[in-house]
Amino acid sequence: MITEKTITKTNTMGQVSERLARLSESQTLAMAQKSRELKAQGVDVINLSIGEPDFNTPDHIKEAAKKAIDDNYSHYSPVPGYDELKKAVCRKFKRENNLDFTPDQIVVSNGAKHSIANVILSLINQDDEVIIPTPYWVSYVELVKLARGKNVLIDAGIESDYKIKPEQIEAAITPRTKLFLFSSPSNPTGSLYTREELKAFADVFARHPQVYVISDEIYEHINFIGSHESIAQFPQIKDQVIVVNGVSKGYAMTGWRIGYIGAPQWIAKACNKLQGQMTSGASSIAQIASVAALDGDNSCIKEMCATFKKRRDILYNLLKEIPGLKVNLPQGAFYLFVEASYFYGKTDGKTIIKSTNDLALYILNDAFVALVDGSAFGAPDYIRFSYAASEEQLINAAKRIKTSLLKLV
Ligand code: PMP
Ligand code: GLU
Repeated sequence: MITEKTITKTNTMGQVSERLARLSESQTLAMAQKSRELKAQGVDVINLSIGEPDFNTPDHIKEAAKKAIDDNYSHYSPVPGYDELKKAVCRKFKRENNLDFTPDQIVVSNGAKHSIANVILSLINQDDEVIIPTPYWVSYVELVKLARGKNVLIDAGIESDYKIKPEQIEAAITPRTKLFLFSSPSNPTGSLYTREELKAFADVFARHPQVYVISDEIYEHINFIGSHESIAQFPQIKDQVIVVNGVSKGYAMTGWRIGYIGAPQWIAKACNKLQGQMTSGASSIAQIASVAALDGDNSCIKEMCATFKKRRDILYNLLKEIPGLKVNLPQGAFYLFVEASYFYGKTDGKTIIKSTNDLALYILNDAFVALVDGSAFGAPDYIRFSYAASEEQLINAAKRIKTSLLKLV
C-alpha cells in the first residue's frame, strides 16, 4: 500500500543547507521511482508517470557512439562541448528553425535540465522575478528557488488549452523581472503556441529589454500540427532569447544526457564558466553520438512522432468517456493533462479523495497505474498522463482506471 508519506515531497531537515532544505524533490522522478519499486516487487504497474520516449535510440546513433569509443573519445571535452557538436547544433538551428547562431553561442550540457539550471543560476540574483506560465514543468520553479529568485506564476486552465495571453505577461512584468521561462510544446499540457501567439509575446518583451526569455523547445519534434515555431525567430528580441533544446525527447536519448543552449554570447560565456566549475564538459561519447543524431537521417523522428499522435488519440478517446474527467486534445509532446476535481469528496468506502494527490495514490493502489498529480506542475486540480507507452498499455491503463474511478461515489 502506497501512502502519502511514501512519496517524499520535501527533504527532511538534517545537516543539509537551507538551500537544499527549501528544494522539493522532483515529483515526476519520485513517482517513476515508486513505480519501478512496485514493479520490482512483482506488481503489474503501468507507468504513465515519467515523460520519456519508450523507444530505443536509433541504430545509426548507437553506431556513432560505438565508433567514438573505438576512436578514443575518452578524454575531457572542452567545457561547452566539442566544436564538431557545437557546429552541428548551429546547422540544426539554421536548418530546422532558421536561426543564426555561431559556435561561441552554444553550450552543451548534461541534458536540457542542466542547460536550464545553468542559465537560471547565471542570471538570477536574490529576489529577481521569473515569470512562469502555469501549469509549468516541475523543475522550473525549483531551480528558481535554488537561485533564490522569486517565481511569479501566471495561470491558464483547460478552457484556454492551457495557453496564456500576452496581456497576462505584460501585467506580470515589474522592474524586478529578469526572466520569462516557458516550454512549447509544453510539458505537462502538450499545448503549443502558434507563430502569431509567439509574435505577440515577442512584442511584449521588446518593450521590456531587461527581460530575458528561456524558450524550452525540448519537445520540438513531437508536434502534431506542423512545423515548430521558436520565439527566437523575432528579430526585435533576438538578444533576449535563450533557446534550450537537446536530443533527449526527439531522438529517444534521455539516458545519454545531452542538452544545449543557443544564447547571446555573454550568457553562453557565463554558463561555460559555471559549468567549468560544476561538471566540466558533457560525456564525450554522448556528444559524438549527438552529432550523428543532429546531422543524420530525420525519418526516425517522424516515425516516433506519428506513433505518439496515434497513442494520443487512443488515450484521449478512452479518457474522454470516463465520467468526471475533463480532457482536451493537445497538439504536441506526449502528455494529457486532465481536470479531475469532480472526484473531491468521493470515496470507495475506505479512502476519501481530497486532492488529486489522493486520487493519484488511489489510482496507483487500486488500478496499479502510475500518474503524476497536477500539484507538481502548479495545477492541483489536474493529473498528468504520459502516453509514452505502448497502445496495449494505454488501453489497459484506461480500462483499469475507469473501473477504479467508477467505485468512487
Ligand atoms: N524541459 C522539459 C519541459 C522537460 O519535460 C524535460 C524532460 N525531463 C527537460 C526539459 C529535461 O530534458 P533532459 O532529459 O534533456 O534533461
Ligand atoms: N520530462 C520528464 C517528466 O516530466 C522527465 C522527468 C524529469 O526529468 O523530471 O516526466
